[in-house]
Amino acid sequence: MQGAQGDLLRLVAIGKAESRADLARLSGLAASSVSLRVEELLDAGLLAEEGSGTSRGGRRPRRLRLSDTAGVLAVADLGAHHVRLGLLDLSGAPLVVEERPCEIADGPRATLDRIAGAFDELLAEHVPATVPLRGIGTGVPGPVDPLTQRVVTPSRMPGWNDFPVAEYLATRYDLPILVENDANLMAAGEARCWPDRRNLMVVKAGTGIGCGVVVNGRLHRGRGAAGDISHVRVRSDSSVLCACGHPDCLEAYASGAALMAALSEAGIPVTRTGDIVGLVNDAIPEATSLVRNAGRRIGEVLTVLVNFFNPDVVAVGGSLSAAEPLITSIRAAVWERCLPLATRDLEVAPARAGRDAALLGAGALLLEAALT
Ligand SMILES: [Zn+2]
Repeated sequence: MQGAQGDLLRLVAIGKAESRADLARLSGLAASSVSLRVEELLDAGLLAEEGSGTSRGGRRPRRLRLSDTAGVLAVADLGAHHVRLGLLDLSGAPLVVEERPCEIADGPRATLDRIAGAFDELLAEHVPATVPLRGIGTGVPGPVDPLTQRVVTPSRMPGWNDFPVAEYLATRYDLPILVENDANLMAAGEARCWPDRRNLMVVKAGTGIGCGVVVNGRLHRGRGAAGDISHVRVRSDSSVLCACGHPDCLEAYASGAALMAALSEAGIPVTRTGDIVGLVNDAIPEATSLVRNAGRRIGEVLTVLVNFFNPDVVAVGGSLSAAEPLITSIRAAVWERCLPLATRDLEVAPARAGRDAALLGAGALLLEAALT
């Protein structure tokens, strides 16, 4: 019901539908269901109705559009050393996006206060007071329990374990609040860029490694850990201890953090994952070789998952994904080892949604929550 309402609102907001008839045709819902939901959306002040739409020969239908005062969503994507913030309209389109420095190691209270303060500033600057804030969403680089919206045993977020993120934000905002793993948000945002593909795996290759799963067009959370490939054990002659305490996790070999450590050991110090991409583009052989190996290891883990889940698309995003050898190596490993039937129509491609994927995903998920 809520999902269907959100879908109808989105069809109007992105300009695909401007009448109840359009909505019935595009959504596959019965005309009576569409009418009922449109009335609810009009009553809620999310849709407005005016004038006449494009004539289709008979009676001119009235035109539906997103209300000017429908509202905005405030969303954030928290990284280790920065936060990306945005205000979105209810079509999910960004009104403003900016990035600010923010140390996640300062702990949840200081970090969340900083995000809330930034939201207040952005709202004051960019949104008229007559337009309501409809929801707050934030992505965090760690596992999130979907029932409690608490962070559960994150490996790079000191002080955050079991912290009630949503409850803390709720003391400031009496609104729908979304707290979600960043790779899941990225997957939800990326799915919107592949409208004709229903099943996706979206790998986030950044400081850590994450993956989000979209099944039949919807984010699949499982019990919260769905898509987490970071602690899958990889085959190796050496033994490297992962931050989780187990040896030879994928993350200990193929994450941006692991590559930075390896480069430092080779006498090539880097401070940010994005710097690795620069080294690859400058044809520094150590960097290229490390990235290629990381891609191969990620690809080897994905072969199992591609055979099992058989997605339409494996999209690779995150700050390392701009290094071309990463995707090439993932693709090579997947094609070498997967069943021909699994790879026949498979696309392994750079993510399309760009740097704002997680913000767009937060908007899409929040919109459904905001329509309660
Ligand atoms: Zn591990």
